[in-house]
Amino acid sequence: MDEKKLIAEAKKIRNRSYSPYSNFKVGAALLGNSGKVYYGTNVENSSLSLGVCAERVALLKAVCSGEKEFTKIAIVASGENLITPCGLCRQALFEFSPGMKIICSNLKGKVRKFTLKGLLPHPFKDAKKKGRR
Ligand SMILES: [Zn+2]
Repeated sequence: MDEKKLIAEAKKIRNRSYSPYSNFKVGAALLGNSGKVYYGTNVENSSLSLGVCAERVALLKAVCSGEKEFTKIAIVASGENLITPCGLCRQALFEFSPGMKIICSNLKGKVRKFTLKGLLPHPFKDAKKKGRR
């Protein structure tokens, strides 16, 4: 799936965001190595710290579906400034696919691309862990 289509998918799923507290909707479309796309939106809670980002919702759905390697993720939110994944999401994605691309877009079509390694140059790594999975 090309990047424009992945962005369009993230924009579409964004409408399902549950964000009554911030009114800031985010959509994510995560492309697995299999070619399947996994979707996520931010899901907020009245106990604010329980909110989950769109990126991690997509990642958790993917892993539960058996997919553990990803090529890219598109993230779409409103506003002039593009958002990038928060630190928690960067680390969570790094666990599975350090080499993946991050594509950030807003509703006006502004796009900026990053590498996950560029956004998270010094990730946490368990020194005792020998291999992934
Ligand atoms: Zn996040």
